[in-house]
Amino acid sequence: MKQSVAAWVRPEILAIGAYHVADATGYIKLDAMENPYRLPGSLAAELGRRLAEVAINRYPDPSGAGLKDELKRAFGIPDSAAVLLGNGSDEIITLISQAVARPGASVVAPEPSFVMYRMNALFSGLDYVGVPLKADFSLDLPAMLAAIAEHRPAVVYLAYPNNPTGNRFARSDVEAILDAAPGLVVIDEAYQAFADDSFMSLAGSVDKLLVMRTLSKLGLAGIRLGYAAGSAAWIAELDKLRPPYNVNVLTLAAARFALEQRAVFDGQAETLRSERAKLADALADFAGVTVFPSEANFVTARVPDAPALFDALKQRKILIKTLHGSHPLLAHCLRFTVGTPDENSAVLAVLNDYFGL
Ligand code: PMP
Repeated sequence: MKQSVAAWVRPEILAIGAYHVADATGYIKLDAMENPYRLPGSLAAELGRRLAEVAINRYPDPSGAGLKDELKRAFGIPDSAAVLLGNGSDEIITLISQAVARPGASVVAPEPSFVMYRMNALFSGLDYVGVPLKADFSLDLPAMLAAIAEHRPAVVYLAYPNNPTGNRFARSDVEAILDAAPGLVVIDEAYQAFADDSFMSLAGSVDKLLVMRTLSKLGLAGIRLGYAAGSAAWIAELDKLRPPYNVNVLTLAAARFALEQRAVFDGQAETLRSERAKLADALADFAGVTVFPSEANFVTARVPDAPALFDALKQRKILIKTLHGSHPLLAHCLRFTVGTPDENSAVLAVLNDYFGL
């Protein structure tokens, strides 16, 4: 007899859909905050040689020690901080959630923000408390402090800059939350390569602070490497939950190679920052379009009719992300990942047609 899956799977899992990734075959892909540049040919060949030397018959070094030291040097992680490596920062969010998920424990995050904070809370059975941002996407500090006082959350997540809105919260607001929070405060700096501020210098000296980053937005989304820097006490506990070989040998080798070639990725980030400014300015010139300030590699804008503009771009083989319908504050918002100059021009050409210019 066929067994009923529904009788065994938790109702809250049955109730949700799977994480949806749109098929972008044949499209200019500007939906997922990837770096649009591939590795230059000569570097790709060198990477190939490096990967060929890797002993793929062996399990990886479970501690990733060499890479951690190189990350510390490359990204200004203080000596006093301990480092945790994850299979993308997604996995680090999972480990954090598992570590604190005792009955009644809660997570607080502003909304809208990165959906995985909420999803992982659900997966681990944590209560999730979303605190709406203000209409301009800044933090509602009194509401955040009230939620922290009421729920005494095990974890507060702050994406700095925030996804999907692109803005960086006021540093003083983040500091006030860091002061008030009783548990762990995760400052998620996934977009740091495109931002003007960071909390990394405090990692290791403020016990409850974990600064999380990723190589994904820098141009290495495919290798899946995230890292978190924080106090040795927190990192040691999170490390117990980490699957022993979570970062594979090819990722370890590719990441070390990429750090040697740091200047290439930094150059691309610089180009993307200036392209972001051009794209934001051009978008703001269309009638009825409001562009929100961004310190990330994407620009979020409110347009008169988001579904129609999304479709117009899609018809011309450009895939962006529509945020319309995902949260009341995001009504008629679209998120444009910054692409190459040619890709951004293609976006603007469609908008010119669409707005009848
Ligand atoms: N944090 C934020 C704020 C993000 O936007 C993303 C990806 N969109 C991640 C973390 C996850 O990044 P990854 O798992 O690729 O490291």
